[in-house]
Amino acid sequence: MPDLELSPEIRALREDVRAFAPRLRAAAAQLEWERDPRRRVPWDLVAEGSRRGWRTLGLPAEHGGGGATVLALCVLIEELAAGDMGYAVIVDQTLKVQRILARLAGEQARAHFLGRFLGDERCVLAICFTEPDHGSDYLIPHPDFRFTTTAHRREDGAWVLNGTKRFISNGADAGFLVVFACTDPSQPASTGTSAFLVEPDLPGFSVEVVHEKIAQRTINNARLRFENVVLEPWRLLGEAHRGYTGARDVLRESTVEAAATTLGTARAAYEMALDHTAHRVQGGRPLAEHGNVRVRLGRMHAELEAARSLVWRAAVAVEHDPDYDFRLGAAAKLVAADVAVRVCESAVELHGGLGIMIEEAGVEKCLRDCLSFLHSDGAQDSMALRIADLTATGG
Ligand SMILES: Cc1cc2nc3c(=O)[nH]c(=O)nc-3n(C[C@H](O)[C@H](O)[C@H](O)COP(=O)(O)OP(=O)(O)OC[C@H]3O[C@@H](n4cnc5c(N)ncnc54)[C@H](O)[C@@H]3O)c2cc1C
Repeated sequence: MPDLELSPEIRALREDVRAFAPRLRAAAAQLEWERDPRRRVPWDLVAEGSRRGWRTLGLPAEHGGGGATVLALCVLIEELAAGDMGYAVIVDQTLKVQRILARLAGEQARAHFLGRFLGDERCVLAICFTEPDHGSDYLIPHPDFRFTTTAHRREDGAWVLNGTKRFISNGADAGFLVVFACTDPSQPASTGTSAFLVEPDLPGFSVEVVHEKIAQRTINNARLRFENVVLEPWRLLGEAHRGYTGARDVLRESTVEAAATTLGTARAAYEMALDHTAHRVQGGRPLAEHGNVRVRLGRMHAELEAARSLVWRAAVAVEHDPDYDFRLGAAAKLVAADVAVRVCESAVELHGGLGIMIEEAGVEKCLRDCLSFLHSDGAQDSMALRIADLTATGG
């Protein structure tokens, strides 16, 4: 296994993104309270990120992408999230879905997807698991679970998709969506679910609601309706009824990237707290010279370092360890999301009343954003349950 040193290329990427991040923060401060949630996405910066190669960094080089490692993607996402979590998730969802398509799509689907995806610097992607009746169910498998969204095969081989998905990141803006649906109700979800390539201009697709939310306000999350959407046979991704298995490798990777996202935003809150406590004078000296403040800052630093070590270790292992244990990535997400909320709470505390003032310090936004990762990419308890289940069954 490679060691955990960052290569010169990844270091250079980190410096580039770190220099860009303040522009993301400024754009988010300006856009996140726009009344219409669809007007909050910083599209010009999405296009600029595309030109810098970030939107396509996960696609293999032979398909026109950057062919980056999972570790490089984690570094990219941490730095973007230090600027604005919403933007980081726009990019990360796109990185996740492009890898699923690169690995699972047949020739026709891949050519169709790549032509449009590479040609449009604002083309972002979405993945649809969650439904009103099924959230954690897809993560904690139980024998009776089937997606309510269904696709049945017609005699001519086309599939007809029906159902509702909710909370979908990039849902209202995506150029392409990967949708998981029950295709064999006689089987449990693991062997009765298929994945499909869907586009918003297909008849029967509609955006029902763009959710209002307290976090990640610069990305839209939407409830999507599929009503008799006809999907040509080439839109099936991977084998019929084995959509779960096919996407598993990418989902393992994206669990680690989710950890990197929340880590990046928490690091930004920590840096704001360092700056604030160095300048704010109370009790006759800067806050950072008071013992209780120093202890708190020390703990914040230590927890972020511990979480990052786990994220990087999981990022390398998920790609290179043939015996990769999902518990490692799940632990990275579980620990990073908990640490992130604690660090942000401390940052808010160290800012005093300023920590509560919108647009004054920025730490309140970090706290709101990090709260979203207690659920996003799998609820915390679900992650812990999954780890416990795998431990009980021998990993
Ligand atoms: C900002 C954001 C972005 C998202 N983006 C996407 C996306 O792009 N695509 C997508 O498909 N989904 C997305 N989601 C949905 C996300 O994956 C779900 O919110 C998550 O899986 C939890 O599902 P749920 O919200 O239905 O909660 P529930 O499943 O109802 O869970 C509620 C609580 O019950 C607990 N619980 C659930 N099941 C069990 C069980 N079997 N045993 C014990 N405890 C249990 C959970 O741990 C949690 O604490 C997003 C969510 C958020 C907040």
